[in-house]
Amino acid sequence: MTSTKELAKRRAEEAERIAIALARQKGERRATIKGGEGTVAWVTENLCIGCDQCTIVCDDDAIDLYNKDVTSPLINVPSNKKAKIIRDACTGCRLCVLACPTDAITMIDR
Ligand code: SF4
Ligand code: SF4
Repeated sequence: MTSTKELAKRRAEEAERIAIALARQKGERRATIKGGEGTVAWVTENLCIGCDQCTIVCDDDAIDLYNKDVTSPLINVPSNKKAKIIRDACTGCRLCVLACPTDAITMIDR
């Protein structure tokens, strides 16, 4: 029978394998996204769920969250957060594009 220690070791190895695979995938994806000084991030508002992931990864303080009134009668909350890019601060690094779980951020020409 597998001991708890062996199971913990296997879990740790599997977690490392997944982390390496994800890092490789992100690297490959990043290479396909345009970026750099001539570009700036853009948020498609209706895709943004206000999860805050983009502001966490942005090293340049180029993303702010603002409140947006919720119009759906199905959701009983008065407002939701949305992200917006501060154009002058954005360096075009693309980290927010990779971090966004809903693909709400794209890179556009400045
Ligand atoms: S592209 Fe980089 S600098 Fe610009 S908003 Fe996204 S994470 Fe911040
Ligand atoms: S990561 Fe995407 S969904 Fe989350 S707040 Fe930023 S733009 Fe919105």
